[in-house]
Amino acid sequence: APRVGVLAVQGAFREHRARLEGLGAQVHEVRLPADLSGLSGLVLPGGESTSMSRLLTDFGLWGPLRDFHARGGALWGTCAGAILLARHVEGAPPQFGGHQESLGLLDVNVRRNAFGRQVDSFAAPLDVRGLAEPFPALFIRAPLFGDPGPDVEPLAWHAGQLVMVRQGRILATAFHPELTPDARIHELFLSGLTA
Ligand code: GLN
Repeated sequence: APRVGVLAVQGAFREHRARLEGLGAQVHEVRLPADLSGLSGLVLPGGESTSMSRLLTDFGLWGPLRDFHARGGALWGTCAGAILLARHVEGAPPQFGGHQESLGLLDVNVRRNAFGRQVDSFAAPLDVRGLAEPFPALFIRAPLFGDPGPDVEPLAWHAGQLVMVRQGRILATAFHPELTPDARIHELFLSGLTA
Protein backbone atom coordinates (compact mmCIF):
# COMPACT_ATOMS: atom_id res chain seq x y z
CA ALA A 1 0.00 0.00 0.00
CA PRO A 2 1.28 3.51 -0.74
CA ARG A 3 2.37 5.46 2.35
CA VAL A 4 0.94 8.94 2.16
CA GLY A 5 0.70 11.83 4.58
CA VAL A 6 -1.92 14.44 5.29
CA LEU A 7 -0.71 17.75 6.65
CA ALA A 8 -2.58 17.83 9.94
CA VAL A 9 -1.96 21.27 11.45
CA GLN A 10 -5.39 22.73 10.58
CA GLY A 11 -8.36 22.21 8.27
CA ALA A 12 -10.12 19.25 6.66
CA PHE A 13 -7.36 16.64 7.06
CA ARG A 14 -9.55 13.94 8.68
CA GLU A 15 -11.78 13.75 5.61
CA HIS A 16 -8.76 13.25 3.32
CA ARG A 17 -7.40 10.65 5.69
CA ALA A 18 -10.64 8.66 5.69
CA ARG A 19 -10.96 8.78 1.91
CA LEU A 20 -7.34 7.72 1.30
CA GLU A 21 -7.63 4.87 3.81
CA GLY A 22 -10.83 3.79 2.07
CA LEU A 23 -8.77 3.44 -1.09
CA GLY A 24 -6.22 1.24 0.67
CA ALA A 25 -3.47 3.78 1.39
CA GLN A 26 -1.48 3.78 4.60
CA VAL A 27 -2.03 7.31 5.93
CA HIS A 28 0.14 9.27 8.37
CA GLU A 29 -0.67 12.65 9.92
CA VAL A 30 2.13 15.15 9.42
CA ARG A 31 2.79 17.85 12.03
CA LEU A 32 6.56 17.73 12.39
CA PRO A 33 9.38 17.46 9.82
CA ALA A 34 10.18 13.90 10.97
CA ASP A 35 6.65 12.79 10.08
CA LEU A 36 7.52 13.18 6.37
CA SER A 37 10.06 10.37 6.31
CA GLY A 38 9.08 7.31 4.29
CA LEU A 39 6.10 8.97 2.59
CA SER A 40 5.67 9.01 -1.19
CA GLY A 41 2.97 11.70 -1.24
CA LEU A 42 1.40 14.37 0.95
CA VAL A 43 -2.00 16.06 0.87
CA LEU A 44 -2.25 19.70 1.96
CA PRO A 45 -5.92 20.05 2.97
CA GLY A 46 -8.38 22.90 2.77
CA GLY A 47 -8.90 25.16 5.72
CA GLU A 48 -7.62 28.66 6.31
CA SER A 49 -4.38 29.35 4.52
CA THR A 50 -3.17 32.25 6.71
CA SER A 51 -3.58 30.11 9.87
CA MET A 52 -1.90 27.21 8.13
CA SER A 53 1.05 29.28 7.00
CA ARG A 54 1.55 30.58 10.56
CA LEU A 55 1.48 26.99 11.85
CA LEU A 56 3.97 25.87 9.18
CA THR A 57 6.32 28.51 10.54
CA ASP A 58 5.70 27.42 14.17
CA PHE A 59 6.29 23.74 13.32
CA GLY A 60 9.36 24.48 11.16
CA LEU A 61 7.80 22.81 8.12
CA TRP A 62 8.51 25.20 5.20
CA GLY A 63 12.00 23.90 4.39
CA PRO A 64 11.18 20.22 5.03
CA LEU A 65 8.14 20.43 2.73
CA ARG A 66 10.27 21.91 -0.08
CA ASP A 67 12.90 19.20 0.53
CA PHE A 68 10.20 16.51 0.48
CA HIS A 69 9.17 17.65 -3.00
CA ALA A 70 12.76 17.99 -4.21
CA ARG A 71 13.48 14.40 -3.11
CA GLY A 72 10.62 13.06 -5.24
CA GLY A 73 7.57 13.39 -3.01
CA ALA A 74 4.22 14.11 -4.64
CA LEU A 75 2.03 16.91 -3.30
CA TRP A 76 -1.69 17.61 -3.65
CA GLY A 77 -3.17 20.83 -2.35
CA THR A 78 -6.92 21.31 -2.01
CA CYS A 79 -8.19 24.87 -1.65
CA ALA A 80 -6.16 26.44 1.20
CA GLY A 81 -3.58 23.69 0.60
CA ALA A 82 -3.30 24.78 -3.03
CA ILE A 83 -2.73 28.35 -1.84
CA LEU A 84 0.24 27.12 0.21
CA LEU A 85 1.80 25.55 -2.91
CA ALA A 86 1.65 28.62 -5.15
CA ARG A 87 4.41 30.83 -6.44
CA HIS A 88 2.52 33.94 -5.30
CA VAL A 89 -0.59 34.61 -3.19
CA GLU A 90 -2.94 37.46 -4.05
CA GLY A 91 -5.43 38.71 -1.49
CA ALA A 92 -3.36 38.23 1.64
CA PRO A 93 -4.96 40.08 4.58
CA PRO A 94 -3.71 43.60 5.45
CA GLN A 95 -2.35 42.40 8.82
CA PHE A 96 0.10 40.29 6.77
CA GLY A 97 1.22 43.48 5.04
CA GLY A 98 -0.42 42.09 1.90
CA HIS A 99 2.18 39.31 1.76
CA GLN A 100 1.48 35.67 2.55
CA GLU A 101 4.29 33.12 2.56
CA SER A 102 3.89 30.11 0.30
CA LEU A 103 6.00 27.14 -0.82
CA GLY A 104 6.50 28.54 -4.31
CA LEU A 105 6.48 25.06 -5.89
CA LEU A 106 3.46 25.52 -8.17
CA ASP A 107 3.99 28.09 -10.89
CA VAL A 108 0.70 29.96 -10.56
CA ASN A 109 -0.50 33.18 -9.08
CA VAL A 110 -3.24 32.07 -6.68
CA ARG A 111 -6.05 34.50 -5.90
CA ARG A 112 -7.73 33.85 -2.55
CA ASN A 113 -11.52 33.95 -2.17
CA ALA A 114 -11.71 34.54 -5.90
CA PHE A 115 -15.36 33.75 -6.39
CA GLY A 116 -16.52 36.57 -4.10
CA ARG A 117 -18.56 36.94 -0.94
CA GLN A 118 -21.95 36.63 -2.68
CA VAL A 119 -21.19 33.06 -3.63
CA ASP A 120 -19.10 31.87 -0.71
CA SER A 121 -19.77 28.28 -1.48
CA PHE A 122 -21.27 26.38 -4.40
CA ALA A 123 -21.29 23.02 -6.15
CA ALA A 124 -20.75 22.57 -9.87
CA PRO A 125 -20.26 19.60 -12.19
CA LEU A 126 -16.76 19.95 -13.54
CA ASP A 127 -15.20 18.53 -16.68
CA VAL A 128 -11.80 17.27 -15.57
CA ARG A 129 -9.21 16.21 -18.09
CA GLY A 130 -8.72 12.46 -17.78
CA LEU A 131 -12.08 11.74 -16.13
CA ALA A 132 -14.84 10.25 -18.27
CA GLU A 133 -17.75 11.84 -16.37
CA PRO A 134 -18.02 15.33 -14.79
CA PHE A 135 -16.77 15.61 -11.20
CA PRO A 136 -19.17 17.03 -8.56
CA ALA A 137 -16.93 19.85 -7.36
CA LEU A 138 -17.62 21.67 -4.09
CA PHE A 139 -16.11 25.16 -3.86
CA ILE A 140 -15.86 26.82 -0.42
CA ARG A 141 -14.44 30.36 -0.43
CA ALA A 142 -12.30 28.95 -3.19
CA PRO A 143 -9.21 30.41 -4.82
CA LEU A 144 -8.45 30.40 -8.53
CA PHE A 145 -5.19 29.81 -10.33
CA GLY A 146 -4.00 32.66 -12.54
CA ASP A 147 -1.04 33.31 -14.80
CA PRO A 148 0.12 29.66 -15.07
CA GLY A 149 3.73 29.07 -16.08
CA PRO A 150 4.71 26.90 -19.07
CA ASP A 151 5.03 23.69 -17.03
CA VAL A 152 1.54 23.98 -15.57
CA GLU A 153 -1.00 21.66 -17.16
CA PRO A 154 -4.61 22.89 -16.90
CA LEU A 155 -6.97 20.08 -15.85
CA ALA A 156 -10.27 21.89 -15.19
CA TRP A 157 -11.91 25.27 -15.62
CA HIS A 158 -15.01 26.77 -14.01
CA ALA A 159 -16.64 29.93 -15.39
CA GLY A 160 -13.56 30.60 -17.48
CA GLN A 161 -11.24 30.28 -14.48
CA LEU A 162 -8.58 27.67 -13.90
CA VAL A 163 -9.55 25.51 -10.88
CA MET A 164 -7.43 22.35 -11.23
CA VAL A 165 -3.84 22.03 -12.43
CA ARG A 166 -0.91 19.65 -12.45
CA GLN A 167 2.77 20.45 -12.60
CA GLY A 168 4.99 17.37 -12.49
CA ARG A 169 4.38 15.71 -9.12
CA ILE A 170 2.11 18.51 -7.92
CA LEU A 171 -1.65 18.44 -8.16
CA ALA A 172 -3.85 21.36 -7.09
CA THR A 173 -7.62 21.68 -6.84
CA ALA A 174 -9.47 24.86 -5.86
CA PHE A 175 -12.37 22.66 -4.73
CA HIS A 176 -12.82 19.93 -2.10
CA PRO A 177 -12.94 16.32 -3.41
CA GLU A 178 -12.68 15.05 0.19
CA LEU A 179 -16.13 16.50 1.02
CA THR A 180 -18.06 14.71 -1.72
CA PRO A 181 -18.41 10.92 -2.04
CA ASP A 182 -16.70 10.75 -5.46
CA ALA A 183 -13.22 9.23 -4.99
CA ARG A 184 -11.84 9.69 -8.50
CA ILE A 185 -9.46 12.56 -7.77
CA HIS A 186 -8.04 10.76 -4.73
CA GLU A 187 -7.54 7.75 -7.02
CA LEU A 188 -5.82 10.00 -9.54
CA PHE A 189 -3.44 11.25 -6.83
CA LEU A 190 -2.65 7.75 -5.56
CA SER A 191 -2.12 6.42 -9.08
CA GLY A 192 0.60 9.03 -9.66
CA LEU A 193 2.70 7.87 -6.70
CA THR A 194 5.88 5.96 -7.32
CA ALA A 195 5.71 3.61 -4.32
N1 GLN B 1 -10.52 30.95 1.73
C1 GLN B 1 -9.59 30.06 2.37
C2 GLN B 1 -8.18 30.64 2.35
O1 GLN B 1 -7.92 31.55 1.64
C3 GLN B 1 -9.56 28.70 1.71
C4 GLN B 1 -10.89 28.05 1.86
C5 GLN B 1 -10.86 26.56 1.84
O2 GLN B 1 -9.81 25.92 2.02
N2 GLN B 1 -12.01 26.01 1.70
O3 GLN B 1 -7.35 30.17 3.05
